[in-house]
Amino acid sequence: MPESLADAHELVDDLVGDQAIEWDRAGLIPDGVLRTLANRGLLCAEVPEASGGLGMSSAANGEFTAFVGSRCSSLRSVMTSQGMAAWTIQRLGSSRQHAAYLPRLAGGQLAAVAFSEPDAGSDLSAMTTTIEPDGDAVVLRGQKVWTTAAHYADLIVVVGRYGSGAAAVVVPTSASGVTVTRVPRPSGCRAAGHADVRFDDVRLPVIAVLGGGQPLMLLVTTALAYGRISVAWGCVGILRACLDAARHHARTRRQFGRPLAQHQLVGRHLANLLTGEQIATRMCEHASRCWDSGSPDMVVASVLAKQVSAVQAAQGAAAAVQVLGSVAAHEGHAVERAYRDAKLMELIEGSTEICQLILSDHAVSMTA
Ligand code: FAD
Repeated sequence: MPESLADAHELVDDLVGDQAIEWDRAGLIPDGVLRTLANRGLLCAEVPEASGGLGMSSAANGEFTAFVGSRCSSLRSVMTSQGMAAWTIQRLGSSRQHAAYLPRLAGGQLAAVAFSEPDAGSDLSAMTTTIEPDGDAVVLRGQKVWTTAAHYADLIVVVGRYGSGAAAVVVPTSASGVTVTRVPRPSGCRAAGHADVRFDDVRLPVIAVLGGGQPLMLLVTTALAYGRISVAWGCVGILRACLDAARHHARTRRQFGRPLAQHQLVGRHLANLLTGEQIATRMCEHASRCWDSGSPDMVVASVLAKQVSAVQAAQGAAAAVQVLGSVAAHEGHAVERAYRDAKLMELIEGSTEICQLILSDHAVSMTA
């Protein structure tokens, strides 16, 4: 088991190397890579040691997430899904459920989280998936879309209606009635294993039900808080990769008799990239500090971190493409991938507009 962040970074560098471009092209991360990281508990490193995990703080796991995100956003996306599944079980589950599921997620199994449906994207209150008691079991019916990592997952945490409220259920992908269909050629994070998933009369034991009867939006917000911080740190990784590539190119490529970096309009892009990376990092550090101290500001801090980091990553990746010119026009180049991957970060875990609505509600309700 890696003993420090440095060991974890070294392991990721060994496993990823220069292969992210191939994984992006093939739309697949090799199973061995995912299982190695999962076996070591690194895909959900905040699972407490008492449940078989590494017990990392949000701040330390955030830095690790940024490191993975700087190498491969698809792998970081799988990591976000695994961490969000583990957090949802930890937050909503009983001690019996913790013992049943968390050691599996910290010890090699892969997991995804499914909220979105064909007619319930930004508006998750329109969700129609149902979880119904049936004797000594529950039955799950519905369809989910765009579930990140579902193609690789052994378990999917599925959110649905449960009586007059909502619940999440832990569903083995091998269960009868589960059909996983890959999303063909997504525009970004191409190797993250996005899939649409159907649940046709899937019978599950009652122990699979988490947080039964909670208000739907409370349950969604609980799960998404982890996902937002994780995506935000992943965006910091995108910004760091773009800054590195743009800096290196601007120093070494010469036009009009001098390095690009000495042309002030190119330098402005570098300044903006550095500013974006610093702002996003500070927002993520703040959100992780709130998370680690159990602060009531944690939910708003996670929305702020996600909003700022996703917007900065999308703008920063576009600036990096501009600095690299035709070099970044090669499909698969790290900056070209970053450009595609970063744009998607503005759509997920609450799009930019949905985050703005949440922040606007917060701003209105604040006392002076
Ligand atoms: P819509 O909700 O149809 O929105 C379209 C546009 O309208 C957006 O710009 C949106 O911001 C805007 N809009 C909508 N309502 C409002 C409003 N009230 N005010 C202002 N603007 C508004 N889902 C999962 O459950 N699990 C996953 O793991 C997962 N991973 C994903 C990974 C990727 C790469 C992608 C692309 C999607 C993923 N999703 C996942 C789905 C994702 O959460 C949804 O795409 C997202 O919530 C937006 O929903 P939508 O695509 O249906 O867009």
